[in-house]
Amino acid sequence: MRTIGLIPGDGIGPEVAHAARRCIDATGVKIHWEILEAGVGVMAKYGTPLPEEVLAAIRKHRVALKGPITTPIGKGIRSVNVALRHALDLYACLRPAKLYEGAPSPYKQVDIVIVRENSEDLYAGIEFDDGAPETKELIQWLEAHQPKKLAPDTAISIKPISRRASVRIARYAFEYAVANGRKKVTAVQKANIMKFTDGLFLEAAREVAALYSGKVEFEERLVDNLCMQLVQRPEQFDVLLLPNLYGDIVSDLCAGLIGGLGVAPGGNIGPEVAVFEPVHGSAPKYAGQNKANPTATVLSGVMMLRHIGELQPADRLEQAVRSVIREGRYVTYDLKPRRNDSTAVGTQEMADAIISAIR
Ligand code: NAD
Repeated sequence: MRTIGLIPGDGIGPEVAHAARRCIDATGVKIHWEILEAGVGVMAKYGTPLPEEVLAAIRKHRVALKGPITTPIGKGIRSVNVALRHALDLYACLRPAKLYEGAPSPYKQVDIVIVRENSEDLYAGIEFDDGAPETKELIQWLEAHQPKKLAPDTAISIKPISRRASVRIARYAFEYAVANGRKKVTAVQKANIMKFTDGLFLEAAREVAALYSGKVEFEERLVDNLCMQLVQRPEQFDVLLLPNLYGDIVSDLCAGLIGGLGVAPGGNIGPEVAVFEPVHGSAPKYAGQNKANPTATVLSGVMMLRHIGELQPADRLEQAVRSVIREGRYVTYDLKPRRNDSTAVGTQEMADAIISAIR
């Protein structure tokens, strides 16, 4: 039996994580789940939202399934999700956006895989608050080294992008494409405006693409144009390679193409460790109501099973999800044609239907 970490998270996290755990167990793969608590709820006990014990357990087991964790907007603690990715060097964020028949979507075919750089960019957490002494110093330094003036009440976030991390994520995207029979990688950036940071990311992508020429097609898109094209013709895209912030935003856009956040799974992958989690957050307004769609977390579990080499159980679980969505009967509110459909079932009931459909 293999031990895997299970971080229930908060908000709707515990409900969708429980549902996913039941579905994964129902495939017959023998897993001992070690429950790991993180988030604002453990602050009082451990003095930190991300206790060292949690990181140590994930390092030891090498794989974890995670529910979403709330990050206060504006002030307050920094994101536990981002901290976890940094601490465990989970540099690649993999987010497949596949349209299953029956999911509410105006499109016929969407099968995109997002590869998002997970460690740098504006998510590095290097920020200077307005009015702080360091910010004043930084503003002085900047004004001495470049011609633009900054207002004294400016707050500053730093956008670091390195060649090493850009090459590493580009290699990951191309290797993923080769291993999974994907035809094309599209590098997404805004290198016309951010010539040094996004420019470096694009340059790295081009260099890596040259190594795969003849095997995987390569193209480039500016992020604003990509968003428009995704809405108009999503079928033209295959693997998308993006820096951190654009990757986050485009992930939600792609979730919208395939039926919403309730069905969008993901994985954070590093050289040693992988943590699988849905794209969605903790949706606090639905917490404790048995209302949220468990599919995104169940499909994150499918990705996790593939990652640990349990390919056949993963295929069976994905097939079960597919058939429940196609039938459209035992699905949560977000997969019904109307949001207030009284025939919508709850989180655990949808999980029950998925479990019954496992062959
Ligand atoms: P959210 O993804 O939590 O929810 C936005 C909306 O999407 C919800 O109101 C709901 O209508 C819908 N939705 C999300 N998940 C759903 C599901 N499983 N089933 C049905 N509908 C679903 O985004 P938010 O409200 O912007 O963020 C809430 C909190 O989650 C914030 O604190 C944010 O920082 C955090 N967050 C955490 C993660 C993570 O843990 N990896 C990711 C994103 C956001």
